[in-house]
Amino acid sequence: MDLIEPSIHELADLYRRKAVSPVEVIQAYLDRIESLDPRINAYITVDAAGAMEQARAAEKRIAAGEGGPLTGVPLAVKDVLCTKGLATTCASNILKNFVPPYDAFIIARLREAGAVILGKTNMDEFAMGSSCEHSAYGPTRNPWNTDLIPGGSSGGSAAATAARLCAGALGTDTGGSIRQPAGHCGVVGLKPTYGRVSRYGLVAFASSLDQAGPITRNVRDAALLMNVIAGHDPADSTSAPEPVPDYTAVLDRDLRGLRVGLPAEYFAQGLDPEVEGAVRAAVDVLIRLGAEPVDVSLPHTEYGVAAYYIVAPAEASSNLARYDGVKYGMRLEGDRDLMDMYLETRSAGFGPEVIRRIMIGTYVLSAGYYDAYYRKATQVRGLIRQDFETAFERCDVLACPVSPIPPFKIGEMTDDPLAMYLTDVYTLCINMAGIPGLSVPCGRTASGLPIGLQLLGGMFQEARLLQTAHQYEQASEISFGREVPSL
Ligand code: GLN
Repeated sequence: MDLIEPSIHELADLYRRKAVSPVEVIQAYLDRIESLDPRINAYITVDAAGAMEQARAAEKRIAAGEGGPLTGVPLAVKDVLCTKGLATTCASNILKNFVPPYDAFIIARLREAGAVILGKTNMDEFAMGSSCEHSAYGPTRNPWNTDLIPGGSSGGSAAATAARLCAGALGTDTGGSIRQPAGHCGVVGLKPTYGRVSRYGLVAFASSLDQAGPITRNVRDAALLMNVIAGHDPADSTSAPEPVPDYTAVLDRDLRGLRVGLPAEYFAQGLDPEVEGAVRAAVDVLIRLGAEPVDVSLPHTEYGVAAYYIVAPAEASSNLARYDGVKYGMRLEGDRDLMDMYLETRSAGFGPEVIRRIMIGTYVLSAGYYDAYYRKATQVRGLIRQDFETAFERCDVLACPVSPIPPFKIGEMTDDPLAMYLTDVYTLCINMAGIPGLSVPCGRTASGLPIGLQLLGGMFQEARLLQTAHQYEQASEISFGREVPSL
């Protein structure tokens, strides 16, 4: 058997039966990363020694019959989540030498469950971007066609999962950064409800929108990771006390009677015909499985991009004020007075997209502009949230595209930030509303590239999204999760 072949739940099963050894599996992944990652650039840091040590510990636990749900499972983690003793750069020069003294809550959860952390994945700097090109470590490439972007900002996690450079990964999503790269790489990505997963140890971009979640080859694996990472954390006051269900329990339930809403505004002008065709075909599969289609409207969608690109940079400008070269992170060498030290350290440490966001954010929060921009945007946010509440009175889930276009060429949009922002049109509002969203592969373009279906649910409806996606995945002919890209 090719040891990189089994997905997370298959691997857990093989370990339970002692059919494969975690040491051999981890070694196979490390060898594959060494030979193929130079072509993808999915990893910023590979922790080969640490992973082998964890693998040996996993082997002992399995032999003693003491394994947890993820014992010996090789995972990758976006480089925005703090890992004790392992560099956490956020793909930024300003954090190049930052080694956290603690684990993020969800990293600690993964370790308790026995997971082996292979390394930290590439991303847009501080998670700002949609293409994984804004990284101080160079762009990540799409494993299905290395001339193309993998999506962003969790592009490294999605590309590594698709390319079999890990069995699954964690990403984060502020405006689409789990769902969009998952869609572009032919894997599954879930952005949980705001508050479902602790943000403790997740380096903040926009604190009212950020949420971490799984990126996996199939839906069952995403449910398994959710079982481990979801739940209340007293160290994150925004984390929800809501009980956590077993997300695998409902996967096999059929979809008869499920009301699937189709939001008109998410099938709008600018939607690529191949993407639209694949998403509509996926909805037909859901209908064949017993779901009932319902036409719904989310009328404030058209203000989503504008409002998000005020709220997110505003929060970012405040969150990123802490990188001043004083307590941690990089500081420019040489003698300067304090103000010059701040200015020059920040100018040298941050990349152009991050600087753009800090400037936009500072502007929209400044006296005289606050009411016109920031306050207005938060009002729009309220309307967007209400749109979803109204829609969910008439349906159980919403189905729509993830991205209006398939993966594009590296470099194609780097000179046009607005064009790049507009590609987030179908993902941003979900974060503004706080609801969960899932991306599952639903088709391929004529040139063989993955297309994602996005499923949305009401607050804390992750189980229903996973059930719907799993039923779809079983019935559909799209098999990216079982295919290995030739690299
Ligand atoms: N593309 C969006 C942005 O650039 C969302 C990023 C994210 O979800 N982290 O802000």
